[in-house]
Amino acid sequence: MGRTPDRAIAVADPRRPRAHFRGVVDSRRREESWLRITFHGATRQVTGSAHLLEIGSRQILLDCGLFDSERIHPDSPNRQLAFDPRALDAVIVSHAHNDHIGRLPYLIRAGYAGPVYTTPATGEITSVMLRDSARIQREEVRNAQIRYPHLENVEPLFELVDVERLVEQIQRLPYQTPLEVVPGVTLTYFNAGHILGSAIVQLDVHEAGRTRRFVFTGDLGRRNTHLLPDPTIIREIDILVAESTYGNRQLDSYDRLIKQLHAIVARAIRLQSKIVIPAFSLGRTQRMVYCLQELFSVHKVRPIPVYVDSPLALRLTEIHRDHPEAFTPQARSLMDKDPLYFGSRFVEFCQSWDESRRLNYLNGPMVIIASSGMCEAGRIRHHLRQVVSDPDNAIVIVSYQAEGTLGRQIAEGVERIQIFDQWYDLNAAVYVLDGFSGHADRQDLAWWFEQTGGGIEHAFLVHGEPEAMDALVPTLQPFVQNRVHTPELHASYEV
Ligand SMILES: [Zn+2]
Repeated sequence: MGRTPDRAIAVADPRRPRAHFRGVVDSRRREESWLRITFHGATRQVTGSAHLLEIGSRQILLDCGLFDSERIHPDSPNRQLAFDPRALDAVIVSHAHNDHIGRLPYLIRAGYAGPVYTTPATGEITSVMLRDSARIQREEVRNAQIRYPHLENVEPLFELVDVERLVEQIQRLPYQTPLEVVPGVTLTYFNAGHILGSAIVQLDVHEAGRTRRFVFTGDLGRRNTHLLPDPTIIREIDILVAESTYGNRQLDSYDRLIKQLHAIVARAIRLQSKIVIPAFSLGRTQRMVYCLQELFSVHKVRPIPVYVDSPLALRLTEIHRDHPEAFTPQARSLMDKDPLYFGSRFVEFCQSWDESRRLNYLNGPMVIIASSGMCEAGRIRHHLRQVVSDPDNAIVIVSYQAEGTLGRQIAEGVERIQIFDQWYDLNAAVYVLDGFSGHADRQDLAWWFEQTGGGIEHAFLVHGEPEAMDALVPTLQPFVQNRVHTPELHASYEV
């Protein structure tokens, strides 16, 4: 890979987002500086992933994710695109979490008609997630008409028709299969080990007899999780954009988490009680089902019924079953012993409300996994209502809980919680198991940076809170020739 001197220059005032990007750079500079990156999301925060690459006259967008902000209000940041969608030549998606795909149909609605590259699994998950998102937005619009009576013409960010157009534009590219996506730019996806289908994006840019390698990590998974492989190591990187979600945290090892889960299940068996696990339908639900399967078959814990109460989780689990090649050989051999992947004879998926309500009348021991992951909506609230007041029951928190959510209150062990319109004493035992996250922690990231072999010319950290990013800079810096950047929103760099 070729090397050039330190030329990363911040050229845009990050505090002044522009409506249109083109036309800002004068042509002389454009010839000299043939690769320019602008960060339109996930800047010193974890949502809204969207990075614009300009390579000569071509424009490529990496991800088009949702900001953690409501979608319906006309002033929502989700409705501001600081670039012209019709000027894009390609969109490349890293994985199917909403903060990476959630604005793709909006992009289509705004005029983008070109290819959207995904891995095969990400393509399938994206269509399921975004159809669900369009459905939820119809409800949000109805609520918004009550909340903002002064606003006329309240509109969803996108509708089902936009999702269907997006699905037609998706082009599926398997891992490790190079493809020239625009002239002179070759895309190769590598497994990021974060969720099913997640990819590290490698772009090899060929120009004037030399090649430069641009790598966007997307979200990197943890190492040694038994289910998904470790993130792929990439070498000879010239320009790196890396995530930093847990750049300042060390998470529990998988073996320790399994021991903790073991103790919680043993307690439920002893007390004949219920365990309720709030979990996102994508990724975390399948991971928890797999961990319980591992407990029952490898660790010889007496199996107890596991109910997954989420129609969306069932649809997503079916996609997981279609991709056995995605899992580690160890996970495959364990799941091969059961009738279905992520669905052993102890696991039952609830589809209808009747099936969901039936769980109220069953006695423990049992595990109920339901969404939403932060307990803000969905069937989980009905189950919490049933179990919170009994000290024999347990609530297991396995994912990040944002401030102000019901899940956060439970994780913090408040005395009383409000579900719908009623207050309940929180007597159930609460366990917070942090390490089930799909994100690399500080040690995993340090390992991945080291494995690159160093010599990186320019590096940028995205997708992290400021404390996480700032803590990670010194870890990454030894492998980078120039100063590691933590860009502000809409900041541009020529490299
Ligand atoms: Zn993710």
